[in-house]
Amino acid sequence: MRFYSTNKKVPSVSFKEAVIKGLPDDNGLFMPEIIPHFSDEFLRKLPQLTFQEIAFESAKLIIEDEISENELLSIIEGAFNFDVPLRNVHDNIHVLELFHGPTLAFKDFGARFMARVMGHFLKSDAKEINILVATSGDTGSAVAQGFLGVEGIKVTLLYPKGKVSKIQEQQLTTLGQNVTALEVGGTFDDCQHLVKTAFLDQELNKKLNLSSANSINIARLLPQSFYYTYAHSKLSDTSGNTYFCVPSGNLGNLCGGLLAKKMGVPIAGFIAASNANNIVPEFFRTLEFSPRASVQTISNAMDVGNPSNFSRLLDIYDHDYQRIIADIKGISFNDDQTRALITEVYEQHNYLMCPHTAIGYGGLKHFLNPGDSGIFISTAHPCKFIDVVEPLISEKIEIPLRLQKIIKQEKQAISMTKEFANFKSFLLENN
Ligand SMILES: *Cc1c(COP(=O)(O)O)cnc(C)c1O
Repeated sequence: MRFYSTNKKVPSVSFKEAVIKGLPDDNGLFMPEIIPHFSDEFLRKLPQLTFQEIAFESAKLIIEDEISENELLSIIEGAFNFDVPLRNVHDNIHVLELFHGPTLAFKDFGARFMARVMGHFLKSDAKEINILVATSGDTGSAVAQGFLGVEGIKVTLLYPKGKVSKIQEQQLTTLGQNVTALEVGGTFDDCQHLVKTAFLDQELNKKLNLSSANSINIARLLPQSFYYTYAHSKLSDTSGNTYFCVPSGNLGNLCGGLLAKKMGVPIAGFIAASNANNIVPEFFRTLEFSPRASVQTISNAMDVGNPSNFSRLLDIYDHDYQRIIADIKGISFNDDQTRALITEVYEQHNYLMCPHTAIGYGGLKHFLNPGDSGIFISTAHPCKFIDVVEPLISEKIEIPLRLQKIIKQEKQAISMTKEFANFKSFLLENN
């Protein structure tokens, strides 16, 4: 399989090149030239397959022979060594819990797969790789966890000062080893801008082997399709249509679902749900894409003003806007509505959700018809947003042991302004 840039100004590359480079030179995003289709036989036997088996088959169709079957199998077994439960919340509404990995958020799927794929490709290369990650909260810790201690790889995390939760900050700043955290005086978009500018900077690229690991790397996108295929196949009542509702920020998660559908999984449609940063729902309503500065909300991992995977979404539909709005609906919830959803579902159905997940529930409930089945994606464990969630339910949330340990460790972060010149000299001095 070859991978092209969505800006179409550079030649296509192999999977290895796409993964190592992260971002094409023309500032587009890598996409597979062909989105392959599952065989009918595979689709028929889906309900009997494990998550790992589905992941293997899906990955093989896209990566083809660039990674041997044995290697691919061990990458998948290493990356997805945790549960992916699909639970019924009430009636025809189900939740797919993607927070059972080490950082308790769905970013573990993409980050752990990508880290192992990169590790595999770099085994034979001598030159050290510098991975730059802008994070609005969860990306950074998932990526850093995935790469922790991997030889030949250095990770630099950029997060917006004061705009991530206390627990997220602890997860970002206590890893040590080959991971450095930069606390940037600015927004997530400023962090993302610094990283994008670094990739376009000739001097940096000449001196450092830069690679990206945020949601724009193709190796993070692919595994985000596996769990849609898996969840769809595990629904017991398949008499009606099945819809997924995805709490959306940069649209990486949603694009994973769109890939699964295009590969042949009979998903009827999607709902993209956002917070007050409603650029994406506005697009599905009006077909106008108007990026703008992000605002801060209680679902901060979705505080995105310029969703970076938007061009992938357009390419998946060959820029056919009518097909896009036939498949995807958009909706947004403000912070008060989000809090009300958390309380409502906890009181009525005894199910506790993080603020992002609550937005997913709200979107599904709004659009789902009685005869159909719906799955909303739970993107993080509620305890990661304890300051928001605990006051709403007036009960103590139990924090998993692995998180309790991290909370007690000392924060280690370097302060950084949002000026590119400062970031650049930091990178040059520290590598
Ligand atoms: C990253 C993240 C999202 C948004 O996912 P995108 O792929 O950026 O759309 C939602 N919820 C949580 C908890 C996240 O970490």
